[in-house]
Amino acid sequence: MEKLIFEKSVKGRKAYTLPKCNLDEFSYEKLLPEKFKRKVELNLPELSENEVARHFHHLSKMNYCIEDNVYPLGSCTMKYNPKVNDKVASFDGFANLHPHLNEDSIQGALQLMYELGEALKKITGFHGVTLQPASGAQGELTGLLLIRAYHLDRNDTNRTKILIPDSAHGTNPASAVIAGFQTVTIKTNSDGRVNLEELKKLADATTAGFMLTNPNTVGLFEKDILQIEKIIHDCGGLMYMDGANLNALLGIVKPIDMGFDCVHLNLHKTFSTPHGGGGPGSGPLCVSEKLVPYLPIPQITFDGAKYHFEYNLEKSIGKIHTFFGNFLVLVRAYTYILINGTEGLKEVSRSAIINANYLYSKLKSKFHDPFNEHCMHEFLLTGENQKQFGVTTKDIAKRILDYGFYAPTIYFPLIIHEAMLIEPTDTEAKERIDQFAEVMLKIAEEAETNPEILLTAPHNTPVRRVDDARAARYINVNYFKGETKG
Ligand SMILES: *Cc1c(COP(=O)(O)O)cnc(C)c1O
Repeated sequence: MEKLIFEKSVKGRKAYTLPKCNLDEFSYEKLLPEKFKRKVELNLPELSENEVARHFHHLSKMNYCIEDNVYPLGSCTMKYNPKVNDKVASFDGFANLHPHLNEDSIQGALQLMYELGEALKKITGFHGVTLQPASGAQGELTGLLLIRAYHLDRNDTNRTKILIPDSAHGTNPASAVIAGFQTVTIKTNSDGRVNLEELKKLADATTAGFMLTNPNTVGLFEKDILQIEKIIHDCGGLMYMDGANLNALLGIVKPIDMGFDCVHLNLHKTFSTPHGGGGPGSGPLCVSEKLVPYLPIPQITFDGAKYHFEYNLEKSIGKIHTFFGNFLVLVRAYTYILINGTEGLKEVSRSAIINANYLYSKLKSKFHDPFNEHCMHEFLLTGENQKQFGVTTKDIAKRILDYGFYAPTIYFPLIIHEAMLIEPTDTEAKERIDQFAEVMLKIAEEAETNPEILLTAPHNTPVRRVDDARAARYINVNYFKGETKG
């Protein structure tokens, strides 16, 4: 490892070459009013282009990416994203559009958004769609604001509560609170599913809706979904589906047929946009007829000849994102859907389910299996068996890194101790899954014979074990020239 990676600056070095401005009167010194001019020098590192390129290339090699190996993150779907998506998203006519262009000059982009919306409606079975939300969480917030608008529009003003299972993704309760609701937690049964008795007890005239992930976050299908739907609808609430990961359902089950009233989809998970490092993402929301009137503006419409922005929707909740959402993520999803087609998408889901069950069957003898059941696109095992040797799930995850694989999602969902949520994804070949399984089984053996090697892992990564607690409490992502803080 190089030392002092971040301190290569030498005063006066430059990485740019700009032509001299010989039209003196147009130089920024002349044009820029005095009050806007910088009074103190900008505190930036000074390096040659060569050193800048090396710096970033070096950093990129310290990182892990899907081109290195499998990313078995349950609930996050880090599958391989076809490069053709990026190619199409980089076309001039998409990448360089200005959001203020008028309708007539962006008919192609509008057609793409319209047709993507139609495709998502077909996949989910719903009647309306908005492509604006920039993430799954923002899709949730949008859906909950629509549910709120729906109840208020009917003068049903006492519906202040959103019911959420204790296995839900953390964004669910957060979105509900931001949308102005109180949350009510529904317990999970020992079979990993919603406790119907508890749901019946807690659903009442104050229930605005129920947020459910199906397949749920332990990788199992909520078999009682039609009973759940009935309980909620009978008390006047609406059904929100967290469809961040639709990997098990494409072309097989439509959210509308399970009795949901709306669903958000994470294009950056199921529909193949890379999402390491936090974005950009896209969380379109598809809704049933009941919720259509409240959808955000603008809606994109087609009159048979031309595409339009429709702003004139009286009951709309308004805008929830600048302009029209993260457009290039939409381009990638559209490309992915067209290339796969109806049959291809079904195949994506079949492969996701088969891959997950194949890996599950290889690992379940060595790792504690709380539900002992076939899974959907992901499965949950735990590190409980290894605890007797003094190692935790975290130690197992760190050791996986030594073997050149990324670790699965750990300690989520919160209700299962020492959880490992594993999702090989549809894009991994059998040989890769075999390699990953071999590593996991080797680590299970090491836990018994040489626990120390797990406790001190990782050994082969550019950065050894970090202090998570300190990193979370004293987060510092700024560069301060000449100082190493934090
Ligand atoms: C990823 C995920 C979310 C949140 O999506 P973001 O785009 O990260 O906001 C919500 N629910 C589930 C089940 C998820 O896996």
